[in-house]
Amino acid sequence: MSSILIVAISPIDRSLLDPLVEPLTRAFGPRVEVSRSQTLEGSFAFNVSRNQYGSTPLISALLDRFDDFDGRILGVTSGDLFVPVLTYVFGEAQLDGKVAVVSSHRLNDELYGLGADRKLLHLRLLKESVHELGHTFGLLHCNDYLCVMHSSTGVEEIDMKTERLCPECRGKLVSNTAG
Ligand SMILES: [Zn+2]
Ligand SMILES: [Zn+2]
Repeated sequence: MSSILIVAISPIDRSLLDPLVEPLTRAFGPRVEVSRSQTLEGSFAFNVSRNQYGSTPLISALLDRFDDFDGRILGVTSGDLFVPVLTYVFGEAQLDGKVAVVSSHRLNDELYGLGADRKLLHLRLLKESVHELGHTFGLLHCNDYLCVMHSSTGVEEIDMKTERLCPECRGKLVSNTAG
């Protein structure tokens, strides 16, 4: 299986990145690391009228920047992400591709007037990271509501699913990445 490089996209709370390494290694394989030398400046993708960052241009920029990297790129930002047809997205990925991006913005309970819960924030970000990386490994949305590939439109649905692939998606991942 190819390696995964986690890349910070500003604005970013960098303390969110390192805790992803170990669980993503368990999910996808032996080589997951946080890039220490590279940060993508996200401001070019900022849409002033929406007060959000376009996830698709961020994916394009990471593709350009890591053209010669042989593996998956997971871009992580604390900025709020959107695609034009949706109010917001937790993340976006290239299906069977190289790059995924995720945002912690809407995973933070403080956004909903609740107290800060770092543990919950880390877990939600992990689930969405596994989900988007799963797309890069060719996985589609899953009907099993406990499966991490179940589509989530709100944090309640993220909280309901686990950070793990169901046996069927796990099998697909293994066969998609074999050889
Ligand atoms: Zn998805
Ligand atoms: Zn599944």
